[in-house]
Amino acid sequence: MAHPLKHAQNSARKFGGKPEDYLPIHSWFDESKAFVADFRHRALRHHTEGIFLAERVFGVAIVNSAGTQVPVRYVGEQHVKEDLGRIPTAQDWLLQIAPQRWMYGQHLDEETSATREAPL
Ligand SMILES: [Zn+2]
Repeated sequence: MAHPLKHAQNSARKFGGKPEDYLPIHSWFDESKAFVADFRHRALRHHTEGIFLAERVFGVAIVNSAGTQVPVRYVGEQHVKEDLGRIPTAQDWLLQIAPQRWMYGQHLDEETSATREAPL
């Protein structure tokens, strides 16, 4: 699955109304593509926590152009399932990060090659 418009068309088929009713939600999920242009952008919002964040951004439900209340969570779940085939947790993504020394907040001391705490 690629473009937010395709997700929005699928939402309209599934929940009623027009694709435009859902496009802002699907575009929000894929906005992270502005940071990383490949599939890794999905690590930022394509997970359980991202779906709940979408609820905070768009509200618990939207009213589509057919006058039907549609839970934002359902729209988010549809988006993530279409992209990934399942709904991972944020932890599923984060555990795939290969740890780097700077991530621990430590710097190599140039004189002794020991580590020291980074300044706050
Ligand atoms: Zn997506």
